[in-house]
Amino acid sequence: MSLVVIGTVALDSVKTPAGAREEALGGSATYFAVAASFFTPVRMLAVVGEDFPEQYLEDLSRRDIDTSGILRVPGRTFRWKGEYRQDLNEAHTLETQLNVLEGFDPVLPDVYRQADLLFLANIDPVLQAKVRRQVPGAKLTAADTMNFWIDGKRDDLVRTLKDVDLLVINDAEARMLARESSLLRAARVIREMGPESVIVKRGEYGVALFAANDTFAAPAFPVESVLDPTGAGDSFAGGMMGYLAKAGDTDAATMRQAMICGSVMASFNVEDFSMDRLWRLTREEVEQRFRQFQDLTRFEPLSARG
Ligand code: AMP
Repeated sequence: MSLVVIGTVALDSVKTPAGAREEALGGSATYFAVAASFFTPVRMLAVVGEDFPEQYLEDLSRRDIDTSGILRVPGRTFRWKGEYRQDLNEAHTLETQLNVLEGFDPVLPDVYRQADLLFLANIDPVLQAKVRRQVPGAKLTAADTMNFWIDGKRDDLVRTLKDVDLLVINDAEARMLARESSLLRAARVIREMGPESVIVKRGEYGVALFAANDTFAAPAFPVESVLDPTGAGDSFAGGMMGYLAKAGDTDAATMRQAMICGSVMASFNVEDFSMDRLWRLTREEVEQRFRQFQDLTRFEPLSARG
């Protein structure tokens, strides 16, 4: 199945306990697409400014990524500045510069409109809705969002969610969106807003799926040295949707495998800054970690011991 993502392509300045990077390649669509490209071809829709290094676009094009939907327009590229302190699950946003995102009116190339799977990565919910309307035949539309948009554009976001099948969201933001402290109740409230299914990302504690036909939870793959958690959520979503596209199915069993593929990609992504770990990652390493994940979570039924 074909896969399209809309989201940000960014220049990120990030500080973590392990170090810092200035103006590195980032953005929700970027992490998503690079992770997805390990499983399937993916088409990106985004906007960058005149200052965006050509080299970064070339790096993306060398993968199975269609960058023809990345517009370059006059102005400065979207920038995000963030910091992680002792708790690596929590990103502290220091600065968000929307820049060229402010005038962005996404028009999808024809081939993008045929997508089977659509991912509305973190970006203005008004833009997410505009893109959603241009892919009316999508078999599955999934979306992500974050505190910046829940705070700033709540009504638009709630409208966007009416046309989304699966929301992938982190736990703090699920509680914030639903205005509920219990995660289970928050997932129910979000499902009442439109999405049939919700995946809650819980950082180093793993992920949980709440769907009509399944409830599933998986731990995060234990990583000893997390250098930079930026993009963990987007690379999870990329691995998950990339696997669904490759499998050509979205039934419950495939969804569970896809969530593990997402967790594998997120676990690699946090092992280095920006996209550095994903650039040097191999298919073999992905498959090996998937098998390690199976070992990590396999256990016998009680009856096996009489
Ligand atoms: P995450 O997977 O949640 O760690 O996402 C990290 C990426 O999201 C970074 O590379 C940022 O450039 C991007 N980002 C940060 N703030 C926003 C925002 N308000 N809208 C869209 N993307 C953002």
